[in-house]
Amino acid sequence: MEKQSREVIILGAGLAGLTLAYQLKKQGINALILESRNRIGGRIHTIEQDGATLELGATWFADKHVNLLSLLDELGIDKFDQAYGKIGVYELAHGEKQLFELPQQPEATYRVKGGTSAIIESLASKLDKDQIALNQKVELVSFDGDAFQISTNNNSFKSSFLVSTLPPNLTVSQIQFKPALPDYLIELAQKTHTWMGESIKVGFFSPTPFWMEKGIGTVYSQRGPITELYDHSNENGFALKGFIHDGFVTLPKDERERAVRQQLSNLFGEENIAKGTYTDTAWKEEKDTYANYPQFVVPHQNNGNSQLRKGIFNDRMLLAGSETAPSFPGYMDGAVEAAISTSKKIIDLLSTEKVLL
Ligand SMILES: Cc1cc2nc3c(=O)[nH]c(=O)nc-3n(C[C@H](O)[C@H](O)[C@H](O)COP(=O)(O)OP(=O)(O)OC[C@H]3O[C@@H](n4cnc5c(N)ncnc54)[C@H](O)[C@@H]3O)c2cc1C
Repeated sequence: MEKQSREVIILGAGLAGLTLAYQLKKQGINALILESRNRIGGRIHTIEQDGATLELGATWFADKHVNLLSLLDELGIDKFDQAYGKIGVYELAHGEKQLFELPQQPEATYRVKGGTSAIIESLASKLDKDQIALNQKVELVSFDGDAFQISTNNNSFKSSFLVSTLPPNLTVSQIQFKPALPDYLIELAQKTHTWMGESIKVGFFSPTPFWMEKGIGTVYSQRGPITELYDHSNENGFALKGFIHDGFVTLPKDERERAVRQQLSNLFGEENIAKGTYTDTAWKEEKDTYANYPQFVVPHQNNGNSQLRKGIFNDRMLLAGSETAPSFPGYMDGAVEAAISTSKKIIDLLSTEKVLL
């Protein structure tokens, strides 16, 4: 076991963790990010096939998401409009299909050019290679009043400041703290919903845009398994993307695929669907995103609660994932806002009290 020391250690290489490390780096602080998965991005995960991309996690944003938009601007990443098509399909519970003219969207919805993971890759490229450690599942954090000892599945680390960007319910359920975290925080975090944690994203790469050829860009269904489906093509290739009922999490992936292909065949013809590639992510099965709650929580419950932004262990530890943000908590914009405000807090703390390892 090798012990590495850093002034600031960040748990999680999702949008919040990477944005925080980037902000700190601009101020001359080289934080270390510990990430449990073998990839960066967390709830942002773009996959690619022959130039087409599919978002298995976050996709959309709008003009109101000013924190995200200014980060995109700073990183030189472009956006483009989500295409909804002219015609929508409404599938009724008994299978009847109704076509309708789609009304003008009340506000523009954007996607990231190159896929949402372009933000993640760009942020990572601004950091030194040794600032991100993958496959480091944090299991135990001890604080002796002066420094944190952080134990992962295969290593141990030491820092003066610690920031967890894990969804709050994961921070308190997956990591053991010594001494224990304050009771108010444990109780609150267990009642803080992890946004989209129950969702199942499905994607379908296709050699042809058979839906757009008919002007169809959007499908809503009462019948399922797909409830909503959207065009997800880009300038290089064609894809459809949507959500299925979260109850399908109990089915094995190949059965989910069979059910989705069946529905798509009913909608668009088997000859079109047979040629495409199916993929899905059931986020509830992702142990690094979702943990069961001790009691029922409703979507967005306690997202943005100000108590989540309180300093812990004499202000040496902070939470900074998307769910902690005051505006748009749970969303990408919230992750960026939480990261930026946390970087300011850390810089203030470091300038008032020079903490030495
Ligand atoms: C299906 C889906 C669709 C979405 N759609 C949208 C959308 O259209 N628009 C939008 O704005 N937002 C959307 N979101 C939400 C958006 O993805 C999140 O707000 C944002 O990505 C959260 O970033 P984060 O860094 O706060 O958390 P996360 O991305 O969850 O990052 C936390 C990181 O911590 C790591 N980690 C977990 N446990 C440990 C451990 N023990 N030790 C070390 N590391 C650990 C994880 O692997 C992860 O990388 C969607 C999310 C999902 C799942």
